[in-house]
Amino acid sequence: MEIKKVVVIGSGTMGSGIAAQLCNANIPVVLLDLTTDISEKARERILKSRPPLLIDKSKINNINVGNINDDFKEVSEADWIVEAVVERIDIKHNIYEKIFKERKSGSIVSSNTSSIPIKILSEKLSEEEKKDFCITHFFNPVRYMDLLEIVKSENNDLNKINSLKKFCENDLGKGTLICNDTPGFLGNRIGVYAMQVAMTEAFKMKLTIEESDAVFGRPMGIPKTGVFGLYDLIGIDLMADVLKSFIKELPENDEFQQVAKEIPLVKKLIETGYTGRKGKGGFYRMNKTDNKKVLEGINLETGEYSISKKFNLGSEKMDIVNLINRKDKYGEYAWSVISKIIKYASSLVPGITDKFNDIDEAMRLGFNWTKGPFEILKEIGVKNFFEKIESFENNKFLENLSKTKDENFYGERQLYTDLETLGKIKPKAIKVDKNNSAEIYRFNDFNIVEFTTKANALDYDSMDSLKNATDKPLIIINEAMQFSAGVNLSYTMDFANKGDFRSIEKFVRYFQETCKHLKYSKYPVISAPSGLALGGGFEVLCQSNFVVSHTNIVVGLVETIVGLIPAGGGCKEMLWRWSQTEEAKNDPDYAPLKVFDIIGYAKTATSAIEAEPLKYLKPEDKKIMSRNSLLSISKEILENNKEFSPPKECKFKLSGKPLKEKMIKLLEKLYNDKVILDHGMEVGKELANVLSGGETDVDKELCEDDLYKLELNAFMKLIESNKTQERIKHTLATGKPLVN
Ligand code: NAD
Repeated sequence: MEIKKVVVIGSGTMGSGIAAQLCNANIPVVLLDLTTDISEKARERILKSRPPLLIDKSKINNINVGNINDDFKEVSEADWIVEAVVERIDIKHNIYEKIFKERKSGSIVSSNTSSIPIKILSEKLSEEEKKDFCITHFFNPVRYMDLLEIVKSENNDLNKINSLKKFCENDLGKGTLICNDTPGFLGNRIGVYAMQVAMTEAFKMKLTIEESDAVFGRPMGIPKTGVFGLYDLIGIDLMADVLKSFIKELPENDEFQQVAKEIPLVKKLIETGYTGRKGKGGFYRMNKTDNKKVLEGINLETGEYSISKKFNLGSEKMDIVNLINRKDKYGEYAWSVISKIIKYASSLVPGITDKFNDIDEAMRLGFNWTKGPFEILKEIGVKNFFEKIESFENNKFLENLSKTKDENFYGERQLYTDLETLGKIKPKAIKVDKNNSAEIYRFNDFNIVEFTTKANALDYDSMDSLKNATDKPLIIINEAMQFSAGVNLSYTMDFANKGDFRSIEKFVRYFQETCKHLKYSKYPVISAPSGLALGGGFEVLCQSNFVVSHTNIVVGLVETIVGLIPAGGGCKEMLWRWSQTEEAKNDPDYAPLKVFDIIGYAKTATSAIEAEPLKYLKPEDKKIMSRNSLLSISKEILENNKEFSPPKECKFKLSGKPLKEKMIKLLEKLYNDKVILDHGMEVGKELANVLSGGETDVDKELCEDDLYKLELNAFMKLIESNKTQERIKHTLATGKPLVN
């Protein structure tokens, strides 16, 4: 079955998100709603969405819009019809009646419902029609949330379901789990239960929302929004609806019922319009005092708000074992929450799925957990877990495990996909080295480096691993969300605070040396980024020999925001890329001025496709929708480059002083227009010095080392200045830029 055209019915949050992702995959889509006006507005919303639903604005041309009265005939040409209208069974039934009258035989029809069982959705369909009907449960926002649950029934033609799964995996890039028809399927059943446990235990144990979010967050391998932050993000009213549906669908004795009960404070928040970020605020709210925005947090006992104080638990890395062994209320809270989640998830095996592995993957893909409950159990250790847990009656999975005491019960990861992923192959590799910032894995004929810091920020250790791993072909890839958010600024500031600028210089030199080494080593180096590839992360990427990029990346040189310039070869590499253009052949200043504009404004691209016109990525760099395919495509490149020879060294001819003056003129205009302030001018001048080649003229040839040297000098001057340090401190403290 080939999917060449899709009709999406319902152009709200989900319908427009699904349509946009189909556009990204170059599949023609027709988006229908009650009126063309509604679907036209949805089309505009897609174009304006932030973060963007499209990987490139031009993809919008894959969408046509219409209404369900005049344009329903489009259904007869579609290979797949997705229903994403409001969650009302009468409306959905009416639509199915129309669809099955109009569709061509054999086409797939699916619903995006999050709570209506397939039994009920399909109760009016004939046996023949039921064969082609399933649920495709996407998560919001569709482009960024990796999970797709396909819910099948016993009537389905399994070949068809499998080919839909392949399409969704390869073309739409979704981690696709086939689920049974049980309430909340896998992701929401466990994910929402986990949120409810974390919330009710916080109330019971009298934790503040900040304390609870700090525990039920990074130290447990859970995104930093924790539970109360996530509640605000999803919408407190929406969560209440979800809970109502669980209460209705689940048997009375299901453990979920205990944590789904209405909480008076939550009810009051909804009634008073505190529905979360989209409303007046929620558990957290932004308040204005003295014209300044202040973040406030609610007191769970009194319901009153006060200034939110960030709570620091001392560790931001996932560290579940130490966390649950803490002898304080945080350790107690963590154990209480995670043990309940593990107990609940395991009690559902084999009831909702016989593959416990799929539950973990649902939590990873749909809730961005680093590990699911079963892998957390493995990390705690089977023996440890049973020593700590009080009871687990009527739980076949745990009863069995308590008898076998098999510490290796977990087996392989990511069983849902046939693709060869990093998660699958890591356990089979030899771990040759590990430091605080990265790990090196060895396979027969290549190495892998995986960064392991928060947001994969880079430091001396990260560079060490890269350098040590070039004794074989190398793939730089990671399972965590971000490829790398850039150089670790706190690490750099620690030195600056002590006035130890020599250590900073040593680090930057080592960074440069490593990147040069990646580019020119005997064996090919491949970067396979997804998520953030910023600053130093981009410098690693752009000095690798090949790039296999996920389409969802945010890439760019953003150093100027914190008062620095790229000094790991970023300026040099961008100059080289732009100097290879036709325009640059006739004008020696064309490339430096382009790069001055890009780096000066810290321009970023929000997808691999957008990255190409800026030359952050090259046309030959692979741009892949399916993140799970990055490793196998990288391996294919290694396979095809057995006879690899490193590139030739680049040479540069730059105009020097007259070019620098041109750039300073541009800066002066920005300064006069108050676009930049004093320090912006200083940073701009340092950048101008590097990109114009310093003390050179257009007849002189500069080599890469000359440019590295210019980058280093500019970087050191800037990091030593108070105003750059102020910018860095401000960004570290607030996550926002400081204009000074
Ligand atoms: P929404 O309210 O944003 O959009 C629903 C759209 O359906 C509206 O544009 C409405 O005009 C249209 N519509 C209503 N009746 C129609 C009809 N007869 N014909 C054509 N269009 C009609 O809803 P949503 O959040 O996009 O949810 C859609 C479906 O996806 C629901 O079944 C929901 O349970 C499910 N879902 C939602 C989310 C989420 O996070 N919002 C996540 C997963 C699944």
